[in-house]
Parts: sequence; structure tokens; C-alpha cells
Amino acid sequence: MNDLQTIGDGTGRRNDEPPVVVAVDGPAGSGKSSVSRAVARALGYGYLDTGAAYRALAWDLLDRSIDPASAGDVIDELERFDFRIGTDPDEYFVRVRTENVTDAIREPRVTGVVSLVARIPEVRQWLNERFRHILTATEFDGIVAEGRDITTVVAPDAPVRILLTASEEARMARRSKELTGESAAVVGEALRSRDRADSRVVDFMNAADGVITVDSTHLDFDRTVDAIVDVVHSRSSTSPAH
Ligand code: C5P
Repeated sequence: MNDLQTIGDGTGRRNDEPPVVVAVDGPAGSGKSSVSRAVARALGYGYLDTGAAYRALAWDLLDRSIDPASAGDVIDELERFDFRIGTDPDEYFVRVRTENVTDAIREPRVTGVVSLVARIPEVRQWLNERFRHILTATEFDGIVAEGRDITTVVAPDAPVRILLTASEEARMARRSKELTGESAAVVGEALRSRDRADSRVVDFMNAADGVITVDSTHLDFDRTVDAIVDVVHSRSSTSPAH
């Protein structure tokens, strides 16, 4: 089945309102993924890691020995690309076909080619349709969706839109802590070159109109989560729809 699966709590939404979408964009190493997941947990919302879908496709191409730089071959592969991503923040997983690739998609060999896949417009369109479906079909009362173009392309009408930034030094320091086997210089260069490639496709360094910037350079993890939860609460109480 060519679809992402939304894993709900089995009880369905508590109310008939459409789910509250919290859109979070930001560069690599901004802490987006772990922060967004913790925000989802704090609010009782679902969590959608859109970067994981791009990574899953890159993993799939490597696994089938398809050149990620060949747009035509990548587009052909979409037809049989069979993957699932869990949206319960407590049961996060990524699967391609029958294989659990939750950890494998973080390997440097995948990170090194994912931008090649993400620059193909047909891939973005194909994935965006699936992301939008998940946002509207979620069983949670709300869903925190994170990536590079959620605030601008995937869900520009979301009631809460946030750009999570951090200085380049802070982002590199956080990333090298995660990748203990790599030197700071290697991690820094990989991160900078991925940001360069990605920002040719979407602008995630500057907040679009109506998007609130949360700068986590001087915030620890818990304070970053609190800052985003505060934004969600303030937006929800001022928005007539939610
Ligand atoms: O967020 P993460 O670093 O896991 O994303 C992996 C890659 O997926 C990014 O480097 C980017 O190329 C791509 N991506 C994207 N648009 C998104 C999310 C991720 O292009 N919304």
C-alpha cells in the first residue's frame, strides 16, 4: 500500500472540530524533530515527521540500487514506494515495505543523498498529498507536523505556524553530540552543505508572513518545548476556529 498510516489512540477525536495543525519548520540540527515530538506529547497531539518520508524514499532507492540523482528513475520508483510512518509520538516508527528503518534512515549514507531526492518537484508533490491527508485524517485533536515547508507549502493555513531556528554554532554542537563517531568538522560541513542544497528548494531560514520565530540558541530542550507549547496556547485562544 502506497500510503502513510496514521496511528491514533483508537478512541477517535474527542470533538468534531478539525484537528489543530501545528506547523514547525527549521534547518537541520535545530532540534525540530525531538522538540516537535515532545510538544505533541505535552499537548496530547499526533506528530508527523515529514523529513522521515524523504529519508525513507532515499533509503529505499539505495536499497534497490537506484541512483537518487536520476530524477526519472526516482519518479518511476514512487509507484512502488511502500512506506509507513507512525504518528503517535509514543510509538514512532518508520517502515519501508516490511522493514523497520527507523534507525537506518538516520545513517550518514542516507543523509548524504536525501537532498537529491527532495529537490525533485514530483517527489515533493507526491509526498505533500500524503502529508495533507494525514493532517486532516488524524484521530488526534491536533497534530504537530515538522519539516522545511510545512508553514509555507504543506499547511500554509495552519492556525499555528512556527519557524524553529538556532545559530549555526548551536546546531552544529547539537548534531555532533548526536553523531558521536564523527568529528565536529565533518558534522559541520555535512550540515552546512545539506542546508545549502535544501534552501535552494524551499526557504526555511526566513519566517514567512504570520509565522512565529522561536530561536532556541540559548534555550535548553525543555524551555524550547515550553516556548512552542506557549505559542500553541496563545494562538489557539486567539483563533476563532480553534
Ligand atoms: O528533517 P530531516 O533532516 O530529517 O529531513 C531530511 C531531508 O528531507 C532534508 O534535508 C530535506 O532535504 C528533506 N525535507 C524536505 N522537506 C521537508 C522535510 C524534509 O525537503 N518538509
